[in-house]
Amino acid sequence: MKLYTPATIREIKDKHDFKLSKSLGQNFLTDKNIIEKIIQAPAITKNDLVIEIGPGIGVLTSEAAEKAAKVIAIEIDRKLIPILEETLKEYDNIEILNKDILKTDLNELLEQNREYKGQKIESVKIIGNLPYYITTPIIMKILEDGVKAESITIMMQKEVADRLKAPPGSKTYGAISVAVQYYCTITHIANVSKEVFIPQPKVDSSVLRLDIRKERPVFLKDEKVFFRCIKSGFGQRRKTLLNSLTGAMGASKEEVGKALEIAKIDSKRRAETLSIEEFANIANELQVK
Ligand code: SAM
Repeated sequence: MKLYTPATIREIKDKHDFKLSKSLGQNFLTDKNIIEKIIQAPAITKNDLVIEIGPGIGVLTSEAAEKAAKVIAIEIDRKLIPILEETLKEYDNIEILNKDILKTDLNELLEQNREYKGQKIESVKIIGNLPYYITTPIIMKILEDGVKAESITIMMQKEVADRLKAPPGSKTYGAISVAVQYYCTITHIANVSKEVFIPQPKVDSSVLRLDIRKERPVFLKDEKVFFRCIKSGFGQRRKTLLNSLTGAMGASKEEVGKALEIAKIDSKRRAETLSIEEFANIANELQVK
């Protein structure tokens, strides 16, 4: 059954009296080419566990199941569960969980799935066509929880993708760019037109693959200070670093000035011009109370 065709989606909706939910970000993918790109990007093998976020009616799930040892599909909408059980019934290596990804302990889930049918799982790959309204919370939860996955391949609003991969000095560079680039290297996989979804969203999308770094790109004395620096710096991005980091960091103007001097950063610069290394250098010189 070709799950991605508009005719199949209509048929499933009618048969199960299913109504697409706008508030759950249900825009279903209808383009075989894009589905293939998402599935091919993480190079899934028969030794991998795939975690899919938001399977919908299972277009990506079935393709991933062909390549992986096992797929765990986490879907919040309980009305989609009987539909998924039907559309994916020919696969015995798919587990469907009716859960909210933001309330799911992925570390615990991976701990329970270190093996599949006696075979050791070698790596974990996360995929999904994400509901746009919670894209960044989902990504940050996975990264901050230290989930031991190799990569996260996901479709998101193009504007969010542009922010995640923005380089220092660009208009879209912000706290989220620094945070994600600190944890991952980013590869752009595809641009996706809004026309390939049912229903059609208002904006275009992009697919990115985030490869989780095995080692951090910079040395940090204290990760918390680094993230507080980023938050303060971008929280008041019009201000110079001397001003945006003062107070918000619990440090006096003098202390911030001294830290910037040792880190060899001009105190008149703004957060949007700083590289990850420069943020790290400042954070390592700041004594936060
Ligand atoms: N993967 C399907 C596709 O590509 O056609 C559906 C993608 S649709 C953009 C997003 C899916 O995520 C929907 O099925 C929606 O119900 C589900 N979803 C929304 N919020 C969720 C959450 N917090 N946890 C898990 N799934 C969620």
